[in-house]
Amino acid sequence: MEGRERAYEEEASEIRDRELGRGIYLTAHIHMVTPCRLSPPCKYCSISSSILRIRRLRETLTDEELVKSVKRVEKKREITSITLVGGSDIKGQGDLLIDVLKKVRNVTDIDVSIDVGAPISIETLQILKEEGVTAIYSSIETVNRHAFNDAKPGDSLDLRIKLLHDASSAGIPVGRVIMDGLGSELDVMKSIDFMQGFRDVKYLYISTFNPVKGTPWENRKAASINDSLGTLHMPGTS
Ligand code: SF4
Repeated sequence: MEGRERAYEEEASEIRDRELGRGIYLTAHIHMVTPCRLSPPCKYCSISSSILRIRRLRETLTDEELVKSVKRVEKKREITSITLVGGSDIKGQGDLLIDVLKKVRNVTDIDVSIDVGAPISIETLQILKEEGVTAIYSSIETVNRHAFNDAKPGDSLDLRIKLLHDASSAGIPVGRVIMDGLGSELDVMKSIDFMQGFRDVKYLYISTFNPVKGTPWENRKAASINDSLGTLHMPGTS
């Protein structure tokens, strides 16, 4: 078993070095740049907490706060890109995103990615691309439809998948978050495998469910960080 794990690690290291090199680059995540209007909000999200202090962690930044955050990042030479993290709105928030991006572009020409819920129209995706957005991320925490709908009753799995396909068709690299702790271990693997259907995946993040106080899932058992790390070693996921 140990020998097999070492072989997976060596293979994964080889792929990493070949595809990404050995340099480490830092990305600053700035959130929330747009409001989340899902109703109801996701059961694990701080927005659904009954505790005001926790809910406020997901408040939308004012224009001044956004510009100040971007300026702070700009000063740090080790940070080479920004990910603008926004909320979700089934009706879309294309105009808001374009507005946010313009405000960022007034300050810096740094590499920018956008991480939001769906949808974004093809026209807006084209505008974002022209403004230099280098990737679109949308969290599809699990491809298990039942588990997705249970955790995210106000969200749409189909719209999130469509957003990644639309961005990909527009020639924009894509990425997503998978959450360990939603669905089974097999679902995590299927969720990783699902990304093979996209031609340019820039980012795949495996997060680990951790209950937040005051949310509907505050008493749910936390997922194990070791299990999340373990998914990186599973056959077929390297
Ligand atoms: S889409 Fe994101 S921000 Fe909105 S409720 Fe769900 S986890 Fe929270």
